[in-house]
Amino acid sequence: MTFNELDIIEPILKALKAEGYTHPTPIQQQSIPILLKGKDLLACAQTGTGKTAAFAIPILQHLHRSSQKTEGPRKIKALVVTPTRELAIQIADSFTAYGKFTGIRNAVIFGGVKQGSQVEALRRGVDVLIATPGRLLDLMNQGIISLKDIEYFVLDEADRMLDMGFIHDIKKIIAKLPTERQSLFFSATMPPDIIALSRKILGHPARVTVKPEQTTAEKVEQAVYFVPKKGKSKLLVHLLQTEDINSVLVFSRTKHGANRIVKQLGKAGIDSNAIHGNKSQTARQKALGAFKSGHTNVLVATDIAARGIDVDDLSHVINYDLPNVPETYVHRIGRTGRAGASGIALSFCDVEERAYLRDIQKTINQKIPVIADHPFENVGADEEASVNTAKPHRSSPKSPAAQNSSGTSNGQKKKSRKPYWKKRR
Ligand code: AMP
Repeated sequence: MTFNELDIIEPILKALKAEGYTHPTPIQQQSIPILLKGKDLLACAQTGTGKTAAFAIPILQHLHRSSQKTEGPRKIKALVVTPTRELAIQIADSFTAYGKFTGIRNAVIFGGVKQGSQVEALRRGVDVLIATPGRLLDLMNQGIISLKDIEYFVLDEADRMLDMGFIHDIKKIIAKLPTERQSLFFSATMPPDIIALSRKILGHPARVTVKPEQTTAEKVEQAVYFVPKKGKSKLLVHLLQTEDINSVLVFSRTKHGANRIVKQLGKAGIDSNAIHGNKSQTARQKALGAFKSGHTNVLVATDIAARGIDVDDLSHVINYDLPNVPETYVHRIGRTGRAGASGIALSFCDVEERAYLRDIQKTINQKIPVIADHPFENVGADEEASVNTAKPHRSSPKSPAAQNSSGTSNGQKKKSRKPYWKKRR
């Protein structure tokens, strides 16, 4: 199916073409016809499926059609509420891109920065407002924003919104919306509290579900390197220098770890930036901007900071540290292989992370291929293997190799010893 078959108006088709989109993704194929008919929608879909265009295109189309009939100052007719500022900015960018030939204007508001320029944008007049809940309520309370003209309301990433404790804010926002409106509700998961919330917002919605998370793991090419902690930075440098990596998001468990990685890459002459919670909003936007524009092709992030980062053409994800929650792994690797494209996810696994790897493989129901015989298999491994003897629960105590390694107690090192996981393979 092509976009031409979805009854989309010419100015939007032209913009989609300019974006390089040829075929609608499954969520777009299913949702756009429903939304163009004016129905409410309950959609179970995660970031990476193309859900933003699935709701932005019909809203732009409705607004463009009605804008040709009405005159006078612009009023906010569509409201998109989303949990994070990164997501808010991306959604606004999408509205700008898909709507660039429609004359429909949008503004984005989020907390953590001064409100001046956001208020200024609102004063100039907008049709679509994209907002995080706190700043929206704040400006509503100041009398700067009124929701009385809203005709289209989107609640994005509803499950994350509840996780982040926004439920009361959401209820206050809903209470101010006109009852006559089209409502769209997007969530990656549909537990009972989300269903209950959706009932407060939607009339008789059409339902759309796209692929569960598991399929992300199926379309992304994955591999794991067994590497001691001390060898990880060298392996990363090696891969960046030798592999065909256009743009890579490197995941670090901690903020300090992320900073350290950037430093070590810098020493090897590789430009990169870190984004995490300790960085200011400006620094994060700058790092993301440099990455998106291709000035840097390595972005190092913690899981929290990476939430909502959406970058086109991410060729690789590297898990410098393996996460202890398997779903986090699935989320991380879902950052590549977007909208039907393929992607590559490489993971570094040290001795202590072997248990995490087992859990991940169980969750995705796949064995991740191991890349053996790389140059950093044994960097500092002896120390690590002896550390491992102090934590027998992490390894398989029944493995003869593991028993061997525990035989060398008190940190004694035998020069010829290989790390135990290598022996086991
Ligand atoms: P989303 O799930 O909305 O965050 O979108 C994921 C990514 O897919 C974004 O980078 C979009 O630019 C991209 N995208 C969305 N729809 C399409 C499409 N039909 N063809 C190609 N890329 C798309």
